[in-house]
Amino acid sequence: MYKMGDSCIFCKISRNESKSTILYQDEHVTAFRDIHPVAPTHVLIIPNRHIESLNELMEEDKTLVGQMFLVARQIAEQEGIHEGGYRIIVNTGPNGGQTVFHLHMHLIGGQRMRHAIG
Ligand code: 5GP
Ligand code: ZN
Repeated sequence: MYKMGDSCIFCKISRNESKSTILYQDEHVTAFRDIHPVAPTHVLIIPNRHIESLNELMEEDKTLVGQMFLVARQIAEQEGIHEGGYRIIVNTGPNGGQTVFHLHMHLIGGQRMRHAIG
């Protein structure tokens, strides 16, 4: 588990202080390949600002969340998986399976998903 600030691995990735394969970055959002991919395409989309989870999301983050979805769509197109389809997952809290406590969206595709959910 990772907490805020210097020790947060995703903060480090967004600041280019930790090695990762970044596919997209702007002022607000970074997208990079998951280190342990579960499918041919497995990309994480994060806000550059540290937000612990969906639970900490605020009214003023609406535009940020919209940008995360648009980046996901753009990367799905780049990866050539947009027509076949893909899955977006946001694990939240321990029961949701969240292990890195910096909000992130999983973009997973390139194969048929085995489970509808769970
Ligand atoms: P969660 O379980 O919190 O929804 O997902 C965390 C994801 O982050 C996992 O899929 C894990 O493989 C990925 N991950 C953890 N540490 C790193 C890292 O240092 N670099 C990258 N690229 N991915 C990471
Ligand atoms: Zn962070």
